[in-house]
Amino acid sequence: MDRYKVKLIWEHFRHKEEDKPWFKLIWQPILIAKNSLISWLITLNRISTFDKIQKWQPEIVNRCPLCLGHEESRDHLFFACSFVQEVIEAVFPPSWGYLPRGGWGAGLQEAVIKLQDCCVGRVLWNATISAIWRERCSRVYGKKIVEAEDLIANLKQIMEAMMLGNLKFSLAVEKRKLWFM
Ligand SMILES: [Zn+2]
Repeated sequence: MDRYKVKLIWEHFRHKEEDKPWFKLIWQPILIAKNSLISWLITLNRISTFDKIQKWQPEIVNRCPLCLGHEESRDHLFFACSFVQEVIEAVFPPSWGYLPRGGWGAGLQEAVIKLQDCCVGRVLWNATISAIWRERCSRVYGKKIVEAEDLIANLKQIMEAMMLGNLKFSLAVEKRKLWFM
């Protein structure tokens, strides 16, 4: 059977779904796959935040490891947490108008509207989301704490490299500064 027929059969049987509005924001070849994966898992609410863990381990104290002032849930971390708001406000240029204050759904929708069509915006958004989640996990597992100002400085370095048009360099910086942090 030739490839054309195989493709026709595949198209006939495969389950088709409408593209999600956030698809372009999260799944692009230019993005680091691990960052996209984290954004996608958060979108599906498949991350293990303390509000979920507490359901099968009621003795656990639910406290946000980033701000220490609120119970942790996906919608608190993204984007009601004061630590996260500080990072986002400092990282995204004011002219972009990206200042999510509600839960994940509202912040994701705002990112789709304001950042999705900009390559720098997509890279920076996924890098920021991943950096926040990794920092949260580092604190939970007792690893080295990175303060908001250092997280901001690392993310700004990616942003500046991208603005200078050096995408390859900025991705290298991101891998070095963020993923292995
Ligand atoms: Zn918090």
